[in-house]
Amino acid sequence: MAEPSTCAECATQPAVLEDLDTMPPAPWCLGCALVLVKLGDPVLNYRALGDIAEYTAAIARGTTATLRFG
Ligand SMILES: [Zn+2]
Repeated sequence: MAEPSTCAECATQPAVLEDLDTMPPAPWCLGCALVLVKLGDPVLNYRALGDIAEYTAAIARGTTATLRFG
């Protein structure tokens, strides 16, 4: 197991997921990741580093609320 990363955004909280769309992958804490969901720009291509049950639930709610087709 790798050392726990610190969030690249707030630099204070432990990262719970990594954004794999960036190089190198950017670590996000739960709080900052949830802000992205609220902003409508969630990290969808990610690798879990910790407990992200709350994040995946937020994405499920967010995408259900904001789905756009066509
Ligand atoms: Zn953060």
